[in-house]
Amino acid sequence: MKNRKAELAPCGVFCGACPSYKKTCLGCSSESKEQKRTSKWGCKVRNCCYNSQNKNYCIECDDFPCEKNRNKLIDTHPGDVKYKYRHEIPEIFVKMKEMEVEAYLEFQKKRWTCPSCGGIIHFYKYECSKCGKKEIV
Ligand SMILES: [Zn+2]
Repeated sequence: MKNRKAELAPCGVFCGACPSYKKTCLGCSSESKEQKRTSKWGCKVRNCCYNSQNKNYCIECDDFPCEKNRNKLIDTHPGDVKYKYRHEIPEIFVKMKEMEVEAYLEFQKKRWTCPSCGGIIHFYKYECSKCGKKEIV
């Protein structure tokens, strides 16, 4: 029943748009020991979702958006546009319920791809990692 994608964190963040993805980190869902970023294994949201609730994504949980997710992500840095990718979790993550996981992954990939050059748009800066174009995702 596991349908975990490297680019999709359990909490709703699109790992594919993270500046660390494929550099120091293989994504929040990864169990690989061959990555620098290991803090994910201590993440309360990840542990709750994967281990306590035995789900793949918080959106599958009846408690979503729970206090753990809100404290770690949704409610952090209120009003700071750098963290829009966290604040948007409640509204964007419900789309996973409307579509299959694969379609949701494609939808997210498309959102975070530069329309000018096809490069990846990173969150925090919301600009293309390839051509530097500013993008509102
Ligand atoms: Zn670009």
